[in-house]
Amino acid sequence: MRLHNMFKKTGEKITSIHSRNRRKPEAPEGILKKCNKCGAAILTDEVINGKYICPKCHGYFRIPAYKRIELVTDAGSFEEWDAKIDEGERPENPLNFRGYTEKVKALRVKTGLDEAVVTGKATICGYPVVIGVCDGRFMMASMGHAVGEKITRAVERATKERLPVVLFTCSGGARMQEGIISLMQMAKTSAALKRHSDAGFLYIPVLTDPTTGGVTASFAMLGDIILAEPGALIGFAGPRVIEQTIGQKLPEGFQRAEFLLEHGFVDRIVTRDEMKEVLRQILKMHTVIDEKKEECPEKKKENRKNISAGKENVSAWERVLKSREKERPVGKDYIDRLFTDFVELHGDRYYKDDPAVVGGIAYFHGKAVTVIAQCKGKTTKENLERNFAMPSPEGYRKALRLMKQAEKFQRPVICFVDTPGGFLRNGGRRAWTG
Ligand SMILES: [Zn+2]
Repeated sequence: MRLHNMFKKTGEKITSIHSRNRRKPEAPEGILKKCNKCGAAILTDEVINGKYICPKCHGYFRIPAYKRIELVTDAGSFEEWDAKIDEGERPENPLNFRGYTEKVKALRVKTGLDEAVVTGKATICGYPVVIGVCDGRFMMASMGHAVGEKITRAVERATKERLPVVLFTCSGGARMQEGIISLMQMAKTSAALKRHSDAGFLYIPVLTDPTTGGVTASFAMLGDIILAEPGALIGFAGPRVIEQTIGQKLPEGFQRAEFLLEHGFVDRIVTRDEMKEVLRQILKMHTVIDEKKEECPEKKKENRKNISAGKENVSAWERVLKSREKERPVGKDYIDRLFTDFVELHGDRYYKDDPAVVGGIAYFHGKAVTVIAQCKGKTTKENLERNFAMPSPEGYRKALRLMKQAEKFQRPVICFVDTPGGFLRNGGRRAWTG
């Protein structure tokens, strides 16, 4: 934009700050650019050399695919796959949609991309992965034949090479210019991911702004662990379409990543600064390490002694009093003291995330385990948030989901049950491992 009207207040600017369907920035091209989230003038270079984050409001701009790969993978480790899909394998313009061929050709020149997704193999902090990144500059990364084909091939090759898959999604949905062929990509990518999952491998989609339509309805939501960037729009139909259809006003923050987290559809929101580290942690936890550290027999005996020692000299009444102590540890304390590198995972993928149940993956003496804990709060406020550790159906569904996940990855499950006083059907408070 030009300097002279940089601080001019225009109606358009005001709506772009406040309206929920704010316009999204493309990669800035001039020296200065106006952030369309906070309206501040920002240096283009500062944004490009950083992580495409507004230095003023910390809003996220969309990232070109190769830049994203550079940010999350180890330098020089990326090997691109299917950079160009042969013309013969590609239905160029199946509906003879007017202007479509020309548009794709022009975009190839403009973006230097062959299509709206880049796929390949790389390492993240030394852990090998198959990675795919959608690029919004190419027809809003809509899913046509080429996009579906590249993702499917990448997932199939990941299954063959026994590798986890990380996909950064961003899409306006299915590519309408390809009609039914674009919709078929939903089934194709989903089927490839099912085979990858059945073979026991990990898939992490990272939902970035915006992930919508047929992509949300297929590969974006099929992850073992679903991550999202803060503030990302994630949904099927757009908010305006829904409002017009159901004739109701939608709740505040509808379809944003935070809303989805609260409603149990996303495991975790991860900032750009933490992204590589969080991926490293999760990948490490899903890498089987062969070294078996056997505990020496004397130590085992000693431990057993200690355990039995704990059982002596405590009367039933003392136990009752202990269970009612105000300062007694709650689920989260056990997690913090007994485990390391706890990665909390949220949601039942159905309705809500239940704060009464805390779950995730952590290390227990060097072994990755799934931890599920009924969790009280320390204060009244916390207790109200956690519903005094009384799970709702969504809490049980979260626990069940995490147990199934543990089964897939052959992790032991450690549960901490903290049944509130009035509910003694399970024999009061008890912790078990299994
Ligand atoms: Zn800003």
